[in-house]
Amino acid sequence: GQTTAKQAMALEDGHANPFTGRAFTKRYRDILAKRRELPVTAQRDEFLAMIQRSQMVVLEGETGSGKTTQIPQYLLWDLLPHLNGKMIACTQPRRVAAMSVAKRVAEEMDVEIGAEVGYSIRFEDCTSNKTVLKYMTDGMLLREAMMDHDLSRYAAIIIDEAHDRTVQTDILMGLLKDLCAKRRPDLKLIVMSATLDAEKFQKYFNDAPLLSVPGRTFPVEVFYTPKPEPDYLEAAIKTTMLIHATQPPGDILVFLTGEDEIEDACRRLRGEADRLRSRAAHDAPKPGPLLAVPLYSSLPPHQQQRIFDAAPEGGRKVVVSTNIAETSLTIDGIVYVVDPGFSKQKVYNPRIRVESLLVSPISQAAARQRAGRAGRTRPGKCFRLYTEESFDKDLLPQTYPEMLRTNLGNIVLQLLNLGVQDLVHFDFMDPPAPETLMRALELLNFLGAITDDGELTRTGQLMAEFPVDPEFSKMLIEAPHYKCSMEMLTIVAMLNVPNVFLRPNDRKKEADAAKAEFAHKDGDHLALLNVYHAYLHNQRDAKWCSANYLNPRTLKSAENVRTQLSRVMTRVGLPLVSGDASKKAYYDQIRKCMTSGFFMQVARAERGGKYTTVMDNQTVFLHPSTCLLTNAEWVMYNEFVMTSNHYIRTVTAIEPGWLLDVAPSYYDPKAVPEGPARDDLARIAKTRAVAKAIEDRKNKKARTDEE
Ligand code: ADP
Ligand code: MG
Repeated sequence: GQTTAKQAMALEDGHANPFTGRAFTKRYRDILAKRRELPVTAQRDEFLAMIQRSQMVVLEGETGSGKTTQIPQYLLWDLLPHLNGKMIACTQPRRVAAMSVAKRVAEEMDVEIGAEVGYSIRFEDCTSNKTVLKYMTDGMLLREAMMDHDLSRYAAIIIDEAHDRTVQTDILMGLLKDLCAKRRPDLKLIVMSATLDAEKFQKYFNDAPLLSVPGRTFPVEVFYTPKPEPDYLEAAIKTTMLIHATQPPGDILVFLTGEDEIEDACRRLRGEADRLRSRAAHDAPKPGPLLAVPLYSSLPPHQQQRIFDAAPEGGRKVVVSTNIAETSLTIDGIVYVVDPGFSKQKVYNPRIRVESLLVSPISQAAARQRAGRAGRTRPGKCFRLYTEESFDKDLLPQTYPEMLRTNLGNIVLQLLNLGVQDLVHFDFMDPPAPETLMRALELLNFLGAITDDGELTRTGQLMAEFPVDPEFSKMLIEAPHYKCSMEMLTIVAMLNVPNVFLRPNDRKKEADAAKAEFAHKDGDHLALLNVYHAYLHNQRDAKWCSANYLNPRTLKSAENVRTQLSRVMTRVGLPLVSGDASKKAYYDQIRKCMTSGFFMQVARAERGGKYTTVMDNQTVFLHPSTCLLTNAEWVMYNEFVMTSNHYIRTVTAIEPGWLLDVAPSYYDPKAVPEGPARDDLARIAKTRAVAKAIEDRKNKKARTDEE
């Protein structure tokens, strides 16, 4: 590409769309006029000159300056992928952002979403053979790199939101840096972000040039609470209502941490706003209507788009969002930001091998980003629901990269499959702790994915084909052996979507009663199986779902996930078999198969309803949501929930003997810490040994008798 901005703009201003041959619509021209006002437009030539001269470019610019929507299009006009047959990819750490931005850019280019412009996220591919520009999660590009190490389908790759430093982004940066230098001198790489330690990125990418897009932001006045707030959700609702009642027009953005909290807040805000309006005195000015819209990653796409709806006439819009709205999506018209100072973050403790999502304080950098959202269109205000002292003293300047606080099992498997053998010397921007890396290798070794020398096994290769954590792929690979592929697909799918059980605050009892109908005496995984069967049996009826306090949306995505996983099974030649549900052994086989994946997450009962995790000796309780009916002595669990007490959630009863079958070296009684669990295992091992000796003697005798 050697185009200048002038040449490209002439084409954009032309009569017909070169990508489709159709005449441009009026809507296209309207949007184009707005795009031309974005801050990046002024630097289009500078960007083109830079990327024509240099293989890698680092680009930094305020949120809303036009990076994500415009830069890929600038490349399109320069690299002409529709003529050259090589695509442009733009990665996003978040699914919602990939989807939402792709839709916007399809509109901007006057094409259908999924045709020339598409997106690809885990379990959903919205692209076609016409696609020239693809927005995708960083994880999906990593998966593609597994199939095609040289990423030969792409002419340019844009790593967006690089400051987020997800594990996938970090790995991609390492791989792409190497790829650009060694095997793809023609590949262009652009690393973009809002707030970025630009120097660190430039240095990492061999002193790549930096393009800074100056932001066009208005001042934001920041307010703190005089003393700490005991309940941030209450405080957020109160503050939002106060803004609504007393502040001049302008929309509000409230940051909360997750789906339940956000839905709850939206409901309550709507209620309070209605009350405020009906209570207003006749002669006093009535506060306007309040449109409360939620935003979180599991929201269905058409509802995600609602954040862009205009505020009601004479009223106000309040968007209640997770940190998606921090940098990945720009909502115009926001004047007030309410920042309680928390987000859900991954925390990993390699010692006890526990990864959890915890509501944790955000960083100072994130708090500044949040405040910045208020000054997009005019001067704004940000209400921080914590003290100024807390900002200075308690918040870290930056969040640690995810690489340093996550379970690396899946990533290490992917890297090995990518042919990266020497993980210790991989060019990480921030290398993970050796202990975390060791834990990941250990996990894969116990699962049979790698040999003692760290070589990928056949099982490991198969496991890497599945877009789920290694424990799950192990279950799917073992399933045919236990004659339960169909059941395992369902269970894995249900465990890879958000919670299907609804439990509204004002109807907890009814919801629990409805859930009990699906209970299985041996545990929650089997209850999930019951739910899914009932869902299909009732023709996926949404009314049936709500009557039974089930989330129809989540069930629908579970079905989608299940289809995708079953395709992978078929592709790699794993038979889709099922057992006889009328036989007693049926559920045993299923539970045993699950144990083959999750044998490392097992606990044994103690007195007083307490359990102890077998290898790490943590005291835990069954989560109150469990439907386990028996007093199971041994259980496997999916999730370790850390609060003041430790809970295990999604729990199923197992037999200790199975552990000796599925993971004999891991459960060698000599390797198990001293205690009742070890005594049980040792006893079973001994009984088995004796039985085997008797059996052997019998066989020997039978043979001698014959002779
Ligand atoms: P950046 O990546 O620099 O944060 P974007 O390219 O995402 O900026 O957005 C640039 C501008 O495009 C926004 O400020 C907004 O005006 C507009 N925009 C982006 N997405 C949408 C959308 N879905 N609907 C309407 N306008 C949008
Ligand atoms: Mg962006």
